[in-house]
Amino acid sequence: MDFGTVDLTPEQEAFQREVRAVLGEIMTEEVHEHERRTGDGFNEGVHLALGSRGWLFPAWPVEDGGAGLDRVCQRILALEIARHQVPTITMGTTNLVWAAVELSCDPELTAELKPEVAAGRVRFCLGYSDPEGGSDIAGATLRAVRDGDEWVLNGSKLWTTGAHNCQYTFLLTRTDPEAPKHKGLTMFLVPLDAPGVEIQAIRTYGGERTNAVYYTDVHVADRYRMGEVNGGWATLQGPLSAEHGAGRPDDGLSDIAMFMGTREFERAIDAAARWAKRTSRPDGTLVADDPAFLDRLGRLAVSTEASWVTPAAMGRTKSSLSFIAGIAELMDMVGPEAVLAHGAEGAIEGGEIDFAHRFAQGTATYGGTTEVFKGMIAQHVLGLPRLNLPGSKQWVR
Ligand SMILES: Cc1cc2nc3c(=O)[nH]c(=O)nc-3n(C[C@H](O)[C@H](O)[C@H](O)COP(=O)(O)OP(=O)(O)OC[C@H]3O[C@@H](n4cnc5c(N)ncnc54)[C@H](O)[C@@H]3O)c2cc1C
Repeated sequence: MDFGTVDLTPEQEAFQREVRAVLGEIMTEEVHEHERRTGDGFNEGVHLALGSRGWLFPAWPVEDGGAGLDRVCQRILALEIARHQVPTITMGTTNLVWAAVELSCDPELTAELKPEVAAGRVRFCLGYSDPEGGSDIAGATLRAVRDGDEWVLNGSKLWTTGAHNCQYTFLLTRTDPEAPKHKGLTMFLVPLDAPGVEIQAIRTYGGERTNAVYYTDVHVADRYRMGEVNGGWATLQGPLSAEHGAGRPDDGLSDIAMFMGTREFERAIDAAARWAKRTSRPDGTLVADDPAFLDRLGRLAVSTEASWVTPAAMGRTKSSLSFIAGIAELMDMVGPEAVLAHGAEGAIEGGEIDFAHRFAQGTATYGGTTEVFKGMIAQHVLGLPRLNLPGSKQWVR
């Protein structure tokens, strides 16, 4: 593995300065406050500002609404977006779905959507998880029934994050209940302003906003179908694999791990380090001069670094599990003030450690739970037999 750094050309350095200046201007305190208040993972003003510079799809040519950036500049942009804490949940889901739109949507619809998506005016969310169980994704129950040139949808989805900020959901439906479960599925791009769609907010312990979405006699034209009827499992594979880290260019400029909140853990560690440098023990010594504290902090920092360089599914599992265990240890090291939330009297470092602790818990669930990933690693990486857990709904049929 090459851990070498990249020497930037003068043009790339100028681009880095430009990105820092632009993000420094648009990532105002109001934007951060909006994110803390809503948990949306999205800010329309910021999203449109990025779109206006072609930075939502930076690799696309300028004439397609992108910025025509080379790989190094794409990486510079991605790193600065992360460093400036730009809310990117809806940006991420839109990116995941777009690749499937290009492959599987009606070409006329794709051409209509492309400039809108690039500009940030059209956004997509992921309508996979059923209320009955999100891990068993192929067990989807939301029904789509053909009616002439249209389809009629009935059912519900849980955890459709960003639905209230998106124009379409990439929806997994059941079109043939008699077929084996992977063979009776069809994907649609469903306009979220269609009559019969109802979005209800869910706020998580980690402060994120997600949604339950109800579909009652929702009529969708056949042009919004993606891929073959009953071929939904194939249509879904691209976005699912991309979410799990597949398909990233192997040029040393992509994330190695499947990102699951490592940055929030790093921010909490930095917050604890700053706190330690200005906080004294009762005997008058600085916390930052305590070798035991430094040893523990150093081990946590190393564990985040290890998560960054652990690939794909292993990285997803490691980053989440080491974040959950590590943030609890960090709270123990800092003490009672660490549990005070942003805005509470006596909160330290803007409540960064409390936020990271709450946020960490959800990272074991979304995008597929760590338990499910451990099963996939056992089966597909280690070549062990498929798990057969007595009592699991997955195998009780
Ligand atoms: C904040 C948040 C945002 C989300 N955003 C989205 C989104 O935008 N779109 C979307 O479609 N979904 C989204 N999800 C859903 C997420 O993908 C599911 O929650 C996840 O896949 C788990 O599904 P479940 O919650 O229904 O749990 P279940 O599938 O009911 O699982 C329950 C428990 O059983 C365990 N389990 C299940 N199957 C297995 C197995 N095979 N092996 C071992 N253990 C197993 C699980 O680990 C878990 O502990 C989001 C979830 C959260 C919390």
